[in-house]
Amino acid sequence: MLKTAFKSVDTWIFDLDNTLYPPHMRLFDQIEVKMIEFVMREIGVSREDANHMRHNYWAQYGTTLAGLMHHHDIDPEPYLAEVHDISFEPLKSDPELSTAIKNLPGRKIIYTNGSAPYAEKVVESRGLAGLFDDIYGVEHASFHPKPQQSAFEQVFTKAAVFPETSAMFEDDPRNLSVPHSMGLRTVLVAPKPMLAEHIHFHTDDLTGFLRNLR
Ligand SMILES: [Mg+2]
Repeated sequence: MLKTAFKSVDTWIFDLDNTLYPPHMRLFDQIEVKMIEFVMREIGVSREDANHMRHNYWAQYGTTLAGLMHHHDIDPEPYLAEVHDISFEPLKSDPELSTAIKNLPGRKIIYTNGSAPYAEKVVESRGLAGLFDDIYGVEHASFHPKPQQSAFEQVFTKAAVFPETSAMFEDDPRNLSVPHSMGLRTVLVAPKPMLAEHIHFHTDDLTGFLRNLR
């Protein structure tokens, strides 16, 4: 049944953070600290307020950056460079995931709400370099983040994605809603399943899931 559902898929689109590496590697914790420090300095608020703003903007707009741009006219490029200036030490290379991705038939694409240069570093640290045909970041969607429709439309147009033959893998269920409405297969990669119409499949083991498609 699983194999049948993905039989016609020739374009494999992966989110990056907490999808191509597991959440327990906690890379995003470092980014959150950088975000809080950026907000404290640029907006001039306390650490506690900065943390609230970070979370509230993420919840409301899809990313902290989108809220900062909307409410405070923040320039995205320096922000992205600063918050992604972290240690990639927690990431470990994953030869089994590498093989599972390599064996997928067709194009492999990364689409992240982070920046593409940051994604390159993550991919390198996970031992996945050279596997992806294209890497798209938030800068390829005029800094509009997933889950916004316009973000998916811009990136999918650039990548020439045909929804009927494409699948999207994501840890954030919000970011599968638009892909589902466009007609992609959707896979939630997360520790816990979630019952929702826009989620076709769930896995807590991306490597195992991809292997089972063969
Ligand atoms: Mg993610």
